Amino acid sequence: QQKTTLANSTPSLDDKPADSDPTSANSQQSSAQQQQKTSGSDEKKKDQSIRLGKSFRIGLSGPPGVGKSTFIEAFGMYLVSKGHRVSVLAVDPSSARTGGSILGDKTRMTELSRHDMAYVRPSPSRGTLGGVRIVARNTTEAITLCEAAGYDICLVETVGVGQSETMVADIVDMFVLLVPPAGGDELQGMKKGIMELSDLVIVNKSDGALVDSARYAQIEYTSALKFVKAITSYWKAKVIRVSSMGGPEAGVGLAWDTMKEYFDIMESSGELQRKRGHQRKIWMWRQVSSELMDLLHEDTQVRKMADELEAKVLKNEVMSGAAAHQIVEKFMKGMSTS
Ligand code: GDP
Repeated sequence: QQKTTLANSTPSLDDKPADSDPTSANSQQSSAQQQQKTSGSDEKKKDQSIRLGKSFRIGLSGPPGVGKSTFIEAFGMYLVSKGHRVSVLAVDPSSARTGGSILGDKTRMTELSRHDMAYVRPSPSRGTLGGVRIVARNTTEAITLCEAAGYDICLVETVGVGQSETMVADIVDMFVLLVPPAGGDELQGMKKGIMELSDLVIVNKSDGALVDSARYAQIEYTSALKFVKAITSYWKAKVIRVSSMGGPEAGVGLAWDTMKEYFDIMESSGELQRKRGHQRKIWMWRQVSSELMDLLHEDTQVRKMADELEAKVLKNEVMSGAAAHQIVEKFMKGMSTS
């Protein structure tokens, strides 16, 4: 039955709003009636631009300890209270590379993961094989499945290390960076690259004794962003302060309003569709190179030759470029005779 539900619901065509009754989250039929009941609230009406058969993919990144899980828990609960269906996927680059896990095995987002309107996919298990590319492909497929299953907001979380942010930025509509409430040294250490990917910077933990340093960080990041080239001419990256522990009024609501503003501008200008098209193109070529590499590695003749050439390149007996050329030629010859 689960399969039928997935196959029958096409999110891009389905203009039914997400079911706002947690007790009947799987019932697509009741969603129209539910909508009538809830449409009195202005706030809910505003949110419909997203629920009208459209999905919103949001990437969230930040260093360990910045408060990603805490933010997602609070943010996700806020979204489900507004009638959205939320899925949370984690991309853990460490599990791909070393078999360890930075995002951790701890139970995360306990309240949200129990909610009927939410789906929190556990962090990929240890020892995931195939590297970041495979993880990315799986994540893209998981996003599509979540959307088909009626989750209109998909959060993709990653730790701000290595290649994973670039990969996540290439599969989401909006990329959000969470930073701690301090400036100066931390900002110096922050890679410029990740700032360039960010549509929104959230200074988290803006509460209690940390408010002043959160303000300072907000000013620092705002001026740092002035030197970063905008990703699109339709949106200028913003910096806001949030406390993930103080309820919607403490910034989680503002975070959503800012994201919605971004979504509305990008969607109504057609820029979102263009961005998604461009992302699909990028993924097509990544897939091509990944499949070609698989084929090349499966070819035993090529593999043998490549091992010999690798040894020579290590000893500097052959130039890397010349070796690469020979490997590709051998592969092509093998392909044309097979
Ligand atoms: P993650 O590693 O980025 O997922 O970070 P966690 O969500 O596990 O949070 C790390 C620590 O920061 C925990 O002890 C949280 O309780 C704390 N924390 C998270 N958000 C806030 C916040 O808004 N304010 C304060 N004061 N602490 C926070």
